[in-house]
Amino acid sequence: MNWHLLQLSEIEQLLNSSPKGMDSITASELLLENGKNQIADHKKKTPLRMFLQQFTDFMILVLIAAALISGVLGDLVDTLIILAIILINAIVGFIQEYRAEKAMEALKNMVASTARVLREGKTIDLDACDLVLGDVVVLEAGNIIPADIRFIETHQIKVDESTLTGESHNTEKIAKTLPEGTYGLGDRTNMGFKGTNITNGRGLAYVVATGMNTELGHIAKMIQQDETATPLQKRLIAFGKRLSIVILLICALIFTIGWLRGEAILAMLLTSISLSVAAIPEALPALVTIALAFGAKRLVKNNALIRKLPAVETLGSVTYICSDKTGTLTRNKMTVQETDEIQNTNDYLSFFQENALLKAMALNNDISITKDKKWLGDSTEIALVQYAFDNNINKYTVEKIFPRVAELPFDSNRKCMTTLHQTEKGILVITKGAVDELFKKLDKNQKIVIPEIEFRVNKMSEKGYRVLGYAIKLLPSLPEKLSIESVESSLTLIGFAGMIDPPREEAKQAVAECKQAGIIPVMITGDHQLTAKAIAIQLGIIASEEDLVLSGTELSALTQPQFEVIVEKVRVYARVNPEQKLKIVKALQDKNQFVAMTGDGVNDAPALKNADIGIAMGINGTEVSKEAAHMILLDDNFATIVKAVKHGRRIFDNILKFIKYTMTSNSGEIWAIFLAPFFGLPIPLLAIHILWINLVTDGLPGLALVSEPSESNIMSRPPRSTKENIFAGGMALHILWVGFLMGVVTLAMQAWSMHYSQNHWQTMTFTVLCLSQMGHVLAIRSEQESIFKIGLLSNKPMLGALLLTVILQMMIIYTPLFNSLFKTQPLTIMELVITFAASSVVFCAVEIEKSFKRMQK
Ligand code: ADP
Ligand code: MG
Repeated sequence: MNWHLLQLSEIEQLLNSSPKGMDSITASELLLENGKNQIADHKKKTPLRMFLQQFTDFMILVLIAAALISGVLGDLVDTLIILAIILINAIVGFIQEYRAEKAMEALKNMVASTARVLREGKTIDLDACDLVLGDVVVLEAGNIIPADIRFIETHQIKVDESTLTGESHNTEKIAKTLPEGTYGLGDRTNMGFKGTNITNGRGLAYVVATGMNTELGHIAKMIQQDETATPLQKRLIAFGKRLSIVILLICALIFTIGWLRGEAILAMLLTSISLSVAAIPEALPALVTIALAFGAKRLVKNNALIRKLPAVETLGSVTYICSDKTGTLTRNKMTVQETDEIQNTNDYLSFFQENALLKAMALNNDISITKDKKWLGDSTEIALVQYAFDNNINKYTVEKIFPRVAELPFDSNRKCMTTLHQTEKGILVITKGAVDELFKKLDKNQKIVIPEIEFRVNKMSEKGYRVLGYAIKLLPSLPEKLSIESVESSLTLIGFAGMIDPPREEAKQAVAECKQAGIIPVMITGDHQLTAKAIAIQLGIIASEEDLVLSGTELSALTQPQFEVIVEKVRVYARVNPEQKLKIVKALQDKNQFVAMTGDGVNDAPALKNADIGIAMGINGTEVSKEAAHMILLDDNFATIVKAVKHGRRIFDNILKFIKYTMTSNSGEIWAIFLAPFFGLPIPLLAIHILWINLVTDGLPGLALVSEPSESNIMSRPPRSTKENIFAGGMALHILWVGFLMGVVTLAMQAWSMHYSQNHWQTMTFTVLCLSQMGHVLAIRSEQESIFKIGLLSNKPMLGALLLTVILQMMIIYTPLFNSLFKTQPLTIMELVITFAASSVVFCAVEIEKSFKRMQK
């Protein structure tokens, strides 16, 4: 349909709508008929596919093949057990992955965008997927256009359509019908397309296509999610590849030695293949994803909504948090404290003389009122309207006398906004904004008053007030084309107001916590330098003479290299434009800093994208900024960022513990089987034993490590670099020596029991290896602290996993069915006690190692 060529009246008829919007009943009928306004997600894995993927590992396939061969040639029971264990393993893997996927999906749904529409003349907010043809949507800068639309009314609307047309410049939109002709998407200037961003202005439009019928729907493959591996996963994948070659070589060697020593060849084959399946950490990258997904679920409970999973992993590495001031560090509850009215001496403006400042406050804003009589809109403007109201100037009364006919919306680069009103004398222009910006727009003969006013404004700013000025002028008639240069010039200042926005109490603590944790908090604001500095001092962001305050003007005068010399010292950026945030991010990153950056506006999107952790505001943020961010603060609170960093550190710690545990267990199994021949011992374990240990022992307690509470020093140690090798810092050594100890304890048990317990030896050896790993997992729960200090109860899932594992192991030892399946024998009490005692060796050794670490500090 060529909507762009139709008159609005034709469109109304076609869609059966009107500028007042649809009625809700028709709308819900249409929704049922045409379906939701959604783009179908092609890439989603079906549960079946997810399940089958559990078997795609090459070594698992080899094992299945080997088990089948050995089943045909001999031991069918063994084959069935091996297949059963592989199946259980796959089911467990599937359940985890499925749950993780669901958790991520739930998080994604939380960011589902909303649309503001008119229905029966009333403004309501809807889920964007509930939009129907004919709906009238209300749009403003920062929105992502929710469907294909045809504009009814536009005020300086500019749209970034680069996602659709690839053109990087912003297109200005109009409401007029286009003359007959053929137009490409980019030239349909009275239309807006789903998924493109409004960067400027306000407007009203009809929905003309939804869901898969939109232009975006036609090219849906463009919006596929980018699923990249996290830095840790990349490292694990690369490491896993190298490691698996080594493990395969070792297993081949074990097989050859066993064969030469005359072990049964099929059993030997199964054992060595099982060992390689158990020891190759194939699943680690996937388990990291699962741990991150569950971490993300925890984070959202703490008001930090993760949009990009890798952010969970890297959060803990943040070294700089660059935060907006208004609303994030402060409460965003503004109240006007002082006003200063300036008598204008211009005769031609005398009709607006009386209560000029209060009337301007009541007229120049975009505040609306809700059904229950609450102001709705920007907190700065609410403060001003409220102040006028308290002084007996009602917004709605003055608006009747001076109706608004046009406007130039606020933008944070200009730091001003203008409304134009119809009066008997002509068009009244009211501009409000940052006083220093207004100065540039004043009439020539006003310029002499500037120094005097500046002095008064600075006095207010030093108290931490945000000061806004008002200026007016009269135009003979409404200009054909509104331009900022012509409208916002030759103004006459009529006064200014100073308002406070007190710092958040919890932000003060969070700032202190940051500093302890080696993270530098930085404030970025569009506010005046003096205002920003006053608040930064109150919050503790500025604490010494060395902490610099830089203004946007100073910043733009610096070249990137010059800026990088001082960037690490700057604590406050004032009167900056959102565009400059990108310069700040780049400079810090060049200095090897890991930067978290907050933002709420459209123009913040590039900085958010480029920051290591881009953070958008859940309450006051625009959709565009949310789309660009890695994380969204549901409460817009600075303290939440710090909390999220703390969680990030804990999650990363626990993933490391998990890796350490799994790899050490694998190393123990390899050492035991590899070393046996060198001590003249037979292969200690059967294939099914190895697979059992891999399934139960490695699986359950390993996962419980993810629930480990944070280490006591979590926020008093410096951030960990994302470039740091995780196996450095003693992990590799730990894996080798503790694994070796496990192997030696296992073989010692084997040698002893072969001598003293005859046919119970294999059961004892098998159990010792299993229980040693339990001891190990307990000991590595904390990096430094002794288990007796952190207490057994501090990780209940772990306690449960341990108990369950021990019970399962006892079941294998003491039930006749499992005795025959797993070729085990019931142990005597004495043998069991000895087994437990031997198993505690690894636990004790690692606890002793930790106590040495503590002493060194
Ligand atoms: P912040 O980074 O603190 O959120 P903003 O970009 O919102 O700063 O605002 C920057 C400056 O623009 C403010 O200091 C104020 O002088 C001016 N300003 C803010 N809101 C408005 C508004 N609604 N109308 C006019 N000027 C405004
Ligand atoms: Mg703001």
